[in-house]
Amino acid sequence: MLKGKVAIVTGSTSGIGLGIVRELARAGADLVLNGFGDVGEIEAIRRGIERDHDVRAVYDGADMSKGEAVRGLIAATVEKFGRLDILVNNAGIQFTAPVEEFPAAKWDAILSINLSAAFHGIAAAVPQMRKQRWGRIVNIASTHGLVASTHKAAYVAAKHGLVGLTKVVGLETAGSGVTCNAVCPGWVRTPLVEKQIGDIAAQRGISQKEASEELLAEKQPSLQFASPEQLGGTVAFLCSGAADQITGTTISVDGGWTAR
Ligand code: NAD
Repeated sequence: MLKGKVAIVTGSTSGIGLGIVRELARAGADLVLNGFGDVGEIEAIRRGIERDHDVRAVYDGADMSKGEAVRGLIAATVEKFGRLDILVNNAGIQFTAPVEEFPAAKWDAILSINLSAAFHGIAAAVPQMRKQRWGRIVNIASTHGLVASTHKAAYVAAKHGLVGLTKVVGLETAGSGVTCNAVCPGWVRTPLVEKQIGDIAAQRGISQKEASEELLAEKQPSLQFASPEQLGGTVAFLCSGAADQITGTTISVDGGWTAR
């Protein structure tokens, strides 16, 4: 389905990004992996994807907190592969605190990685996609791009911003063969959420299992985590012909969170 297409997935050394990379590789796309982590582990992931799916996979460690590095990732990909078809803006971080205690440096970091990186990546990728008359931009937002929770001022602001950016780019590229959409996951069990489960368990003196059950019970009516593979499947769908007319909108994968 995606044979011959080239995809960048930012923040794909872990969690949801890795699930997306695996599903796009399964569909035949060549991949650019990005994100932090142990060099040996990243190389093992990269080699595993090439071996399992008979695609080309390269790694680029560009830091998504730096606009120039994001634009450099796009330019380097076009130079290496001669094209760019799919950009998944997935890299993201979290920090929780009441707004009056929220450290300014954390606010800046979250806004730059979770929102500004997508702006820089999209701005650099759209000309190439327009030239090809085909492109898919998928922003991994969150239920927190649609509704709020306490103690997540920067994250909720960034994700709402990302949904707004998605709409603008959807409008600006409409009819060009390029689409831009946001995927809004609820709770997905990844290292990012594992840390929040650990914090709840420590604060409340309860087990990790009890903390994860509480986390789900509070927000996610299905009482089940979504999986990185399911998020990968959603992105692969948005890259399919069936999604040609889906643009400037959001798809929730949240077990019913935003239905109530
Ligand atoms: P994760 O911590 O498992 O993975 C985050 C990835 O981003 C890692 O590969 C990390 O190396 C990379 N990254 C972090 N800072 C970076 C930087 N400066 N430059 C480049 N890469 C960087 O987290 P995850 O849960 O897989 O989250 C992925 C995305 O999904 C995030 O945007 C997050 O906000 C979103 N999301 C997650 C959940 C969830 O429940 N896990 C829910 C909704 C949305």
